[in-house]
Amino acid sequence: MSIGFNYAALSDIGKIRQSNQDSGYAGPNLLILADGMGGPAGGDIASSIAIDHLRELDTLAESPEEALESLRSTLGQAHQELCERSTQDPALTGFGTTCIAIRRSENALTMTHIGDSRAYRLRGGELRQMTNDHSFVQYLVDTGQLTPDQAENHPQRSVLLRVLGDSQEDVNLDESHPELKAGDRWLLCSDGLCGFVSGQTIGKVLYHSETPQQACESLVELALKAGGPDNVTCVVADIVENPQQSEPQIVGAAATDRLSQVRNQLDALSQETLRLESENSDPDITTASDQAEDNSFSPARAAVPAETKNEETRVPRFRWGRITGVLVGLLVLIGLFWGALWYGMYSRPTLTPTPNLTSVSENESKDTSPDRDATATENPSQTESSKSAQSDKS
Ligand code: CA
Repeated sequence: MSIGFNYAALSDIGKIRQSNQDSGYAGPNLLILADGMGGPAGGDIASSIAIDHLRELDTLAESPEEALESLRSTLGQAHQELCERSTQDPALTGFGTTCIAIRRSENALTMTHIGDSRAYRLRGGELRQMTNDHSFVQYLVDTGQLTPDQAENHPQRSVLLRVLGDSQEDVNLDESHPELKAGDRWLLCSDGLCGFVSGQTIGKVLYHSETPQQACESLVELALKAGGPDNVTCVVADIVENPQQSEPQIVGAAATDRLSQVRNQLDALSQETLRLESENSDPDITTASDQAEDNSFSPARAAVPAETKNEETRVPRFRWGRITGVLVGLLVLIGLFWGALWYGMYSRPTLTPTPNLTSVSENESKDTSPDRDATATENPSQTESSKSAQSDKS
């Protein structure tokens, strides 16, 4: 006897939103619900990225442990892509997605969850919420600052504390191994349903619907009757013996080709940026300039790898050469001065005093001062020019 899923998924844009940022997936071994955020520019892309990474896991897991490890690592990859895409395009800054994923192994389910989408399980006429919302109002309820009734209508009920993407920090998932039991009916839904239809009503619909498809249609219809202010998505799966064979279903944003379009655009933009950066840091131009400036540094410069031949490596080397020259000059002048003094002291009884020598030494000291000042003022200007070059590049 084999136990598996009979499943269905359905998504609707709702009556107010201009785009559907929810995505859902239902397959023989995998159920996913993702509710994107980040506005029309990115919410649909965010939820699609989650589905696109996870759908590869729609195979029977070897064990609950393997299922959990695969979900963790795949969600980590999705999170990484979300973070990278948001840095590629400023319009995607702050985008992210909720995500519930349930993967099946032979005798168990493995569930990972982040955000405020919900999983419910109907067993023997009793509906149980299987996830905790990672939302600000849930935190207030958990800490006794709000009652559940107050939370339902709280103006900040859409503020989330944890999502996939949106932060460079590691993903913080809720993980569990719910029992796999024939006769159970599972629902994954976005807050477009559970935010506007009561748990009691959801339970009645799940109990009375004959098939997962019928349950999805009835629940979406109820959300629309409640005003449909948000996208609404449902994934329903019955745990059954000898499940029907059917194709996986993808609904919502992930069912469109928006993600592939945006990925192509961003990848092309990224390659163009790399090409321009490569042109601007042409190592041949830098080397030619350096050689014209001072050939004495050629051996050291040749030892510097091409990618590190920038202003940061050149300026310090040049500055030390100047400073060394000035120090040597000063030592020579000090030597001349003390030599002249010694000569004046010990040769005074026999030779005519030579005031010119001291005078020459003083003049030389004065003459060197502008040079040192010039060096001192020249170096900061070089440093500034190197900084401005770097900021231009950046
Ligand atoms: Ca939503």
